[in-house]
Amino acid sequence: MIKSHNLGFPRIGKDRELKKAVESYWKSDIDETQLQQIARDLRRNHWQLQQASGLDLIPVGDFSFYDQVLDMTCTLGAVPARFNWDGQNINLDTYFEIARGCTPCCGAPVHASEMTKWFDTNYHYIVPEIHQHQTFKLSFTKLFDECQEALNLGVPAKPVIIGPLTWLWLAKIKGEPFNKLQLLDTLLPVYEEILNTLQQQGVEWVQIDEPILVLDLPAEWQAAFESSYKRLQISGLKVLLTTYFGDLGNNVNLATHLPVAGLHIDVVRGEQQLQKILSSVSAEKTLSLGLVNGRNIWRSDLDQLLTIVQTTCAKYKNPIWIAPSCSLLHVPVDLNNEPKLDAEFKSWLAFASQKLDEINILKTAININTDFVKNVLDDARSALHNKRSSSRIHREAVKQRVKNITEDMVHRKQPYAVRRGLQQAWLHLPAFPTTTIGSFPQTRQIRELRQSFKLGKTSEADYVTAIKQEIASVVKKQLDIGLDVLVHGESERNDMVEYFGEQLEGFAFSQNGWVQSYGSRCVKPPIIYGDVSRSKPMTVDWIRYAQSCTDKPMKGMLTGPVTMLNWSFVRNDQPRSTTTEQIALALRDEVQDLEQAGIKIIQIDEAALREKLPLRKAEWETYLQWSVRAFRITASVVADDTQIHTHMCYSEFNDIINAIGDMDADVITIETSRSDMELLDAFESYHYPNEIGPGVYDIHSPNVPTKSHIVDLMRKAAQRIPIDRLWVNPDCGLKTRQWPEVEQALHCMVESAKQLRQEYAQ
Ligand code: GLN
Ligand code: ZN
Repeated sequence: MIKSHNLGFPRIGKDRELKKAVESYWKSDIDETQLQQIARDLRRNHWQLQQASGLDLIPVGDFSFYDQVLDMTCTLGAVPARFNWDGQNINLDTYFEIARGCTPCCGAPVHASEMTKWFDTNYHYIVPEIHQHQTFKLSFTKLFDECQEALNLGVPAKPVIIGPLTWLWLAKIKGEPFNKLQLLDTLLPVYEEILNTLQQQGVEWVQIDEPILVLDLPAEWQAAFESSYKRLQISGLKVLLTTYFGDLGNNVNLATHLPVAGLHIDVVRGEQQLQKILSSVSAEKTLSLGLVNGRNIWRSDLDQLLTIVQTTCAKYKNPIWIAPSCSLLHVPVDLNNEPKLDAEFKSWLAFASQKLDEINILKTAININTDFVKNVLDDARSALHNKRSSSRIHREAVKQRVKNITEDMVHRKQPYAVRRGLQQAWLHLPAFPTTTIGSFPQTRQIRELRQSFKLGKTSEADYVTAIKQEIASVVKKQLDIGLDVLVHGESERNDMVEYFGEQLEGFAFSQNGWVQSYGSRCVKPPIIYGDVSRSKPMTVDWIRYAQSCTDKPMKGMLTGPVTMLNWSFVRNDQPRSTTTEQIALALRDEVQDLEQAGIKIIQIDEAALREKLPLRKAEWETYLQWSVRAFRITASVVADDTQIHTHMCYSEFNDIINAIGDMDADVITIETSRSDMELLDAFESYHYPNEIGPGVYDIHSPNVPTKSHIVDLMRKAAQRIPIDRLWVNPDCGLKTRQWPEVEQALHCMVESAKQLRQEYAQ
């Protein structure tokens, strides 16, 4: 008999109830009692739903008001000193302050802890902060309260916590550098206390997540796993050591020999590791197979999964469990909440609830027999069969076009050094040219206009007129401010991926397919399901109109192929690289049309290129190779005197600077203002050959930068990059800002550029 369990369920609720409640609480529209009641209801619903789908063990503690890493940080009492925590049990307000910062009535604002992406997902966690003399103390009762709540409801609870090594690995050192592992001696006693408490509450299993076991780990961290888990053996309590997001690689022996009762592995991303694990796992260990993809929305191939379970059962004599590959946090809640998707398309999909049904079918097929679930297996099989040959997905012309990509399509005609002269000959830009990244403030009127057009309440003609008015107005503002290269402002776009996805073949959009991105923020990723192509120009009319409002150069604005891919749910029936090439070709047509319409500066944003860098270093090269190639397919169609820009709104370039150079954009704009230009070190030591616009205006904050601050930043930039290759621009788009601050800040930026021109003219 096999058992089934789940690693985590989306906490937001199928209608984003948690988001709405938390935001109401922040606005003081509801009080804590009301918030807690909504949270309790959600947890109960989710537990009951999971119980109803036949799971033997149900995760508890996966619920969070903001983030599970922050929950763990609070449980350990690792609150940064600036929050003035009294050392007692952490309350909800302190908890939210760590996540969001606070502005006390007297005194300076206290800034939030940093946020960063959870492995290669689009979920952001609150980064723990530790210092050399960090102490730990059990300080948050949330896990135990929720555990009791579940047990009282008769839920077969399996508490979930983040393991000590993963937590430490993710923590950021503040102050003097030191070896984080030194903190284990003070950290582990709190973990022991947690486990003891859970055992006293009467649970049998606890799930300890250690996803860093799928990374390249230094030897001392590997050793620390052994010593730590030896210490965490609490009699009577069984630990399921949980790994996901990849295979264990060279940590296989380590993971299979740790003194824990069970091991969960990701079979979706690491199928090849299964044999190795089966032969190395020590006796008596429960093996949990992560079979159903927790990172994507496709229906599983149940026949294939069944074969995996059957062959594993034949070889492995200890208990076997089945589960999704990772927490279902990363997929939408329920496909039944999608009334607008057609039946055929829905038959290809599985959201969190449907994934649990799949687990249950597999379990029943093994524990009873396949005949018992014959109908559902047949259904799944025929849906998959239909998908494999559907003309909605497969379009020969697109496949053929990808096959026909030739090397000359991937290269500009001449090297940058030559292109530069050709571009300058018509651009006549001053030194330190100024520009912005694309979007301007999205006012309420603009959002309402788009909404009303979408709902059919505003006619197309009225909509076009209104957007053109907005474009004319932002062009005028930029001319008044005195910027050198202008943009149209992106007022027609709600989202930089959705806007293009909606106009491309092969993309679909759900109505309620929300996934938590951070805190109360949710995103609805597009679903790339079929061969991608473009049926007509997507941006040309807007940009052409914008150019008609001015003699200054207008920069066309597109989202790049890799970002389109990385912020969507992707096909599972062909390599990501192939899908990206299809998108790249569609965008290439757009670039060509823009150029033909007289737009000779075109920016192709690759905001998300870095974030899907594989977790293992050995796989970086391949990823970077195909993603850079896709960018170049899009960009290389233009004449040499057309200037290609790209933009990346993140900071860590050290690892990938060669690849950034290989993109061969004429100009790259990046986020640098918060790092005080240190990020440019990578560009300097690599001798980045093309032009760079290091962001001088932190668009994440409403503060208006001063002229001296900007000049100062640019002087630092000029120490690292030859000045004739520097641009002056904000960190990123300005759509979340307000006009008054934007006008002031850009004015300052332009004044700074003028001063720099004078300073460096001598
Ligand atoms: N062009 C986009 C904008 O300005 C870029 C956004 C991004 O990089 N995230 O909004
Ligand atoms: Zn950006």
